Amino acid sequence: MSTVRDGTTQATRYQNFIGGEWRPPASGQFFEDRSPAETSKVVALFPKSSADDARAAVDAAAHASETWSRELPPKRGAILYKAADIIRSRLDPITRDFVLEDGKPIKEARAEVLRAADIFEYFAGEGSRLGGDTLPSGRPGVFLYTLRRPLGVVAIITPWNFPVAIPAWKLAPALICGNTAVLKPASQAPLSLWHLVKALEDAGLPAGVVNLVTGPGSIVGNALIEHPAVRGISFTGSTEIGTRVYQFGSQRTARVQCEMGGKNPLVVLADANLDLAVRLILEGAFSNAGQKCTATSRVIVERSVLDALTSRLVDATKALAVGNPMDENTFVGPVIDEPAMTKILDYINIGRQEGAELLCGGRRLTERGLDQGYFIAPTVFGRVGPEMRIAQEEIFGPVVGLMAAADFDDAMRLANQTTFGLSAGIVTGSLEKAHAFSERIEAGLVMVNLPTAGVEYQAPFGGTKASGTAFKEQGQAALDFYTEVRTVAMRPSMT
Ligand code: NAP
Repeated sequence: MSTVRDGTTQATRYQNFIGGEWRPPASGQFFEDRSPAETSKVVALFPKSSADDARAAVDAAAHASETWSRELPPKRGAILYKAADIIRSRLDPITRDFVLEDGKPIKEARAEVLRAADIFEYFAGEGSRLGGDTLPSGRPGVFLYTLRRPLGVVAIITPWNFPVAIPAWKLAPALICGNTAVLKPASQAPLSLWHLVKALEDAGLPAGVVNLVTGPGSIVGNALIEHPAVRGISFTGSTEIGTRVYQFGSQRTARVQCEMGGKNPLVVLADANLDLAVRLILEGAFSNAGQKCTATSRVIVERSVLDALTSRLVDATKALAVGNPMDENTFVGPVIDEPAMTKILDYINIGRQEGAELLCGGRRLTERGLDQGYFIAPTVFGRVGPEMRIAQEEIFGPVVGLMAAADFDDAMRLANQTTFGLSAGIVTGSLEKAHAFSERIEAGLVMVNLPTAGVEYQAPFGGTKASGTAFKEQGQAALDFYTEVRTVAMRPSMT
């Protein structure tokens, strides 16, 4: 039984998934999963698990690893194909729960659920492709080749801002490569991931191959990272937590992949089509209320077009549809919770105190019933200096700052003046400048005449500097993280 109705809140009580069974937490305690658009609404109750629950999940995954690692990869793929079909068949209920708990506008949420199904299918296909290399040996009669072997048990710790796509792009390659997994979703949005796990169960995934444990990161996440049977850790979240996860996991020689924060620039050169530039800024800075690791947070504009761009951007920002994320026309929904809202409003005050010019937004929205949720008006700052905290620290909300650049070289200097290095974009018609930008920018993703946010699952994804550690995600790069390469030198002859 995976769910039970709670008598007090009328919300459904969900369970952990351990060793193929839906189980309550050892503590018997649950936490509330609330809607950020309507904060009085409890969407669901999830287990407040302990370190013991996390350890039980790792033990179950270790047990399942013995058979799953030997399963034929095309058969593993067949289960992922089936799970993809199930996800598509449940598109509406999954999307609804996702929007309720996370506040992502419904169009974006629906696309993310479909993306998860596509990711499952993409990696399902790897079941028939996973291979190694054959190499010329310098020794006579020797056959030299490589094999990919799974790591074993992997812990997958994920954030709330892409509660479906990020777990999918970590889990699917982990499974196809023969690993077993323990999932720990963010406490703000566990229900979205529950649906993926349910789809895998219903697709016939053997017991223990995927386990789900919810509860505080500092307890459950920590217990996973510490467990000696966990040989791989894939984390996405803040730089603060990710750096600790990386240090701890690497110290005990687990393989660790951390995708973390960003402070992504969009450079607008003097030759840019300003209408396109405005569209890219709106999309990059305000979709999902700016809560994307790849969100545009700094717009660096050649001075000759700064005034023209600013007035068009401010007008367009004021016209954005902010409101109920269930409404198909909403572009900007709520931010995830009260601490996030407070932090964003604090940064807006800091920006003002630092001398940036508030051009629009800059406040919580309370009219038209929006006081029921955590809504912040899309905010544009002008006259942002590179040393300001709003130009250096990740705000993770609907706030963007405009910075003036003297020329292309100055724009490059400003763009790289950050500890982060996730995504960066440029708007220009000049191939020469676009190439120079791609070469000189310190970022893992480069976008030319495209929004800084937006990824494709067949291409490697990940940041540099404080945004990410060495292993990339998605595409073929994901297979490198989830497998160990074994070199075999074989001389078939005994003579
Ligand atoms: P977060 O606070 O760092 O949490 C991420 C995950 O880590 C959650 O599941 C959290 O659990 C868990 N956690 C917390 N403390 C832990 C600990 N001591 N040990 C192990 N796990 C722990 O991040 P978030 O607020 O969910 O997400 C927003 C951040 O993610 C932003 O900085 C954003 O830029 C980043 N992000 C990066 C990417 C990327 O690909 N680079 C993509 C999306 C988001 P609890 O929820 O229970 O605390």
